[in-house]
Amino acid sequence: MEVRAKKYLGQHFLTDESIAQRIADSLTGTTPNVLEIGPGMGVLTKYLIPKQELNFKAIEIDTESVEYLHGHYPTLQVIEGDFLKLDVDSLFSGSFAVIGNFPYNISSQILFKVFEHRNSIPEVVGMFQKEVAERVATGPGSKTYGILSVLLSAFYDIEYLFTVHENVFNPPPKVKSAVIRLRRNNVTSLECDEKRFVQVVKTAFNQRRKTMRNALKPLSLDISNVPEELLLKRAEQLSVADFVTITNRLGGQQ
Ligand code: SAH
Repeated sequence: MEVRAKKYLGQHFLTDESIAQRIADSLTGTTPNVLEIGPGMGVLTKYLIPKQELNFKAIEIDTESVEYLHGHYPTLQVIEGDFLKLDVDSLFSGSFAVIGNFPYNISSQILFKVFEHRNSIPEVVGMFQKEVAERVATGPGSKTYGILSVLLSAFYDIEYLFTVHENVFNPPPKVKSAVIRLRRNNVTSLECDEKRFVQVVKTAFNQRRKTMRNALKPLSLDISNVPEELLLKRAEQLSVADFVTITNRLGGQQ
C-alpha cells in the first residue's frame, strides 16, 4: 500500500465508542449551533448528528478524512480547512458551542482563539493532552497554572470531566488525554483595560519564577501604585482578581 507523506496533523483516532458517546453527551446544549473541530473519521460526529435539535458543522483539514465523512455522512456540513484560519464570525448566525477530540499540536492555539471569540462561544467540550487539560482547569497555587488558566477562567467556568487512557486511540499518543468543559460565566467586562490585562498575564508568566516586581519590568510601566503584597508574589500565586488589580494600578503608556 502506498503511504503518502502527510503534514503532521495530530491524528489519533478514538476507538472507544462509549468514550465518544460520553464526550458528545457532555455538551449541555447552551446553544443549538455546534462546531466540531477535527472530526477525522467521525467517531464523535456520529453521536452528534442524531441530535436533531443541533445545527451542526465540522471543520477538518485532512482531505482524506473529509472525503470519508462526505461518503459516510452525506448530509453533514463539513468545511475543508484549518480551524485556526477559519472566520468563525460568519459560521452561524449567533453563538455556537465548540467540541472535539482536538489535534494536540494546536490545542493552545485553539484555546486562544476561543478566548478571542469568547462572546460568541458559550461552551467548549474538548479532549486535550492531559497536561493541557489540567493546566486550563487548575487554579492559582499550582505549578501548572499558566496564561490560559488565567485568561480562560476569567470568562469561563472550567470543569475537568475525565481522564482517557492512551490505548483507546489509533495510533496511541505518548501521553494521557482528558476531557474538559468550559462554560461561559456572566462576566461581560473585567473592569480593566482588557488588552493590557492580557499583556500583563503573558508578561508575568514569561518569567513565572520571578516576583511580579521583576517579571513586569519588560513592560516598562510605573508599578508604584501596585500594592506591595502583589509585587512580592509570583504569577502562579495570583488570581484573576489580582491580575485585574495590577492592570488597573499600572501607570503610564507604552
Ligand atoms: N475526532 C477524531 C479525530 C481526532 S485527531 C477522533 O476522535 O477520532 C485530530 C483531527 O484534527 C484529525 O482528523 C486532523 O486531521 C484534524 N486537524 C488537525 N489540524 C487541524 C486544523 N488546523 N483544523 C481542523 N482540523 C485539524
